[in-house]
Amino acid sequence: KLAVAQRAKNKKRVKAIHAKIKNTRLDLIHKFTAKLVKDNALIVVGDIKSRSFTNSMTNLAKSTYDAGWFELKRQLEYKCKHAGCQLEMVNESYTTQTCSYCHKISDSSPKGRAGLRIRGWRCAECGTWHDRDINAAKNILAVGLDRLAVGIPSV
Ligand SMILES: [Zn+2]
Repeated sequence: KLAVAQRAKNKKRVKAIHAKIKNTRLDLIHKFTAKLVKDNALIVVGDIKSRSFTNSMTNLAKSTYDAGWFELKRQLEYKCKHAGCQLEMVNESYTTQTCSYCHKISDSSPKGRAGLRIRGWRCAECGTWHDRDINAAKNILAVGLDRLAVGIPSV
């Protein structure tokens, strides 16, 4: 629909479709964060600053990605505060490369720009098969839990 309107140079229609896309994206982020906050007592988020893969994105894709991420964080912050859900932002350095099972960075783990295409890998140290994103998420959660374990006074 957008392409048709753009080809027809229908500026009003293009603007309306862009607004609809924006609203749909926002609505999806709202539904996602609402469910996350409802289902969890603790949410640990890796603090993405500038991921190297964004270098390969077009500026438009990057700004769209950044805006979505910023909005996701913004919503999590106020929704968690409201619902009494704990939100932790942690440094996510090496969480993609580190094996969540043996905690080693093996030669086979995804690294650098070449590693961006690797969606799954086997740890050369312990032999565990990892989905890239799930492994990183486990490591991010572990960093958050470690921080809480240090911060919580013993009973
Ligand atoms: Zn391992």
